[in-house]
Amino acid sequence: MKNSQISDRIKRLAAMMTLLEENPFKIRNFENAARIVRDHNEDMGVLVDEDRLKDVPGVGKTLAYVIMYYAKAGTVGLEQELKAQLPEGLPDLLDLPDLGMKKVQSLWQDYEITNLEALKKACEANTLADMKGFGAKLQVKLMNAISFQEKHARDFYLDTALFVAQEWMDRLKPLKGITRIELTGKLRRGDKLIQSCEFLIEADASELIAELNDQFDCGLSDSEPLIIKDKSGLPIHFWVCKPEAFAAEQLIRTGGEVYSEKLLDRFGDDAESAIKSLARVQGSPSEKELCKSIDIQWIEPELRDVYNQYPEDFELIAQEHIKGAFHAHSTWSDGRNSLEEMAQASRDLGYQYLGISEHSQAAYYANGLKPDRVKAQWDRIDELNDQSKDFHIFKGIEADILSDGSLDYDEELLAGFDFVIASIHSHFHLDPVKQTDRIVRALQSPFTTILGHPTGRMLMARPGYNPDLTTLIDVAAENDKLIEINTTPKRLDLDWTYLEYAKGKGLKISIDPDAHSIRGLQTIHLGVLLARKGGFTSSEVLNTLDVVEMKKYLQDRRVR
Ligand SMILES: [Zn+2]
Ligand SMILES: [Zn+2]
Repeated sequence: MKNSQISDRIKRLAAMMTLLEENPFKIRNFENAARIVRDHNEDMGVLVDEDRLKDVPGVGKTLAYVIMYYAKAGTVGLEQELKAQLPEGLPDLLDLPDLGMKKVQSLWQDYEITNLEALKKACEANTLADMKGFGAKLQVKLMNAISFQEKHARDFYLDTALFVAQEWMDRLKPLKGITRIELTGKLRRGDKLIQSCEFLIEADASELIAELNDQFDCGLSDSEPLIIKDKSGLPIHFWVCKPEAFAAEQLIRTGGEVYSEKLLDRFGDDAESAIKSLARVQGSPSEKELCKSIDIQWIEPELRDVYNQYPEDFELIAQEHIKGAFHAHSTWSDGRNSLEEMAQASRDLGYQYLGISEHSQAAYYANGLKPDRVKAQWDRIDELNDQSKDFHIFKGIEADILSDGSLDYDEELLAGFDFVIASIHSHFHLDPVKQTDRIVRALQSPFTTILGHPTGRMLMARPGYNPDLTTLIDVAAENDKLIEINTTPKRLDLDWTYLEYAKGKGLKISIDPDAHSIRGLQTIHLGVLLARKGGFTSSEVLNTLDVVEMKKYLQDRRVR
């Protein structure tokens, strides 16, 4: 299990204990441990393997045991014990926004509503509207939240799916019966949410089944695909084929809406068997060669949802093109690592620079910087930059876009930053036209460099503030501004489905981790994968510039 998943599960244990009114100190220990696990730099699985969990501060014996079980088995006895003491489904109510612990307790104790189904019925029957502490407004919010959750019942975050895929890859590679194994399907194409992890395996099917059953005790029988449920809950699909069929299977199983359409157009309704029999005749060892022999342009898997062809001389953006990162928070605002640690971690990742961007003063809840603290941070950054010649910290800010679209400092202070990320953190519920106008105004500010998380959506949690993205892209492109792909796994905002349009308008993007910890810096690969889906090349992504080019780029755009 990934640290973020283990952290969520420990947080859930703490919530269940709160519902059961257990010892508050014990609960606080679990809540702290959830934060520690979430922010820890190394995977818990590795710490368990190397017996180093005991070295993590704040993790005592009980929690080490809990973490070990989650990391290795995906569950722990304590979870079952707590669940057994609560009505089934009650803890799931805690996942709904706008429904805190007190309200869940009240639903349970006062109204005997203990699961999503019962809550949904109560909303539909309009009973929540009259219940003390709830009301009509909350009822509407909950109805929306429940249907949003139902829509995402089978979805997993991209980073979780990639992590699980890597775990299975490592487990499967040593198996004797497997001569070749590759990722296929939606995970090979990349997407913000994933429903299953698909592998294409070259092996003898019955031998493989016997070996998998022997190794993982998974009780598989012959089916297509073979399906195992990972401990995270993500279904793992194995498509098994003979060596001569691998290329054809890879082409078919990878899919992609637009590219598959092209195959159907070309080979008719039964494209699958047509391609398979052509492949048999051609004896093609690779997908590329197969495409060549059947006269179909091979394109990168990530593009296959958007393009059915793509210029062959365009090289898509790749992780190794990334030279630095913008959008990072430190303990100066609401980050969990110091400025110095964030800089060192960026350097360790091979980056030449870090664009630090704390929250601005309006974001008081996130310890946003008042002007005097901005200046104090500039002094500290100057010191750090003087001390190191091979790494540079750019002075930035994540300036709140205020309700009228202006930025959250006076012009004199704004002019002192190397770059400004303009973001919305308040007034989420304006109507879409007003919201769009507000962001347009921020994009037209001479001080804005990058628009941060343009829709504010949280995948599987909230839809965001709904601006008209094509207008924002038009205005950004016209005004020489950038929009970020925020690579926080729960955001991935700007969505890749707008990238083809953005590319057409000549918009440049910045692939920004919005890191609140060292670990948060390690999410840029997700944005790279999604930028590839939109067909972005390295010259269309800001943070592929090296430090010298970047200094010039930002200097040229400074308002004096
Ligand atoms: Zn933000
Ligand atoms: Zn941020």
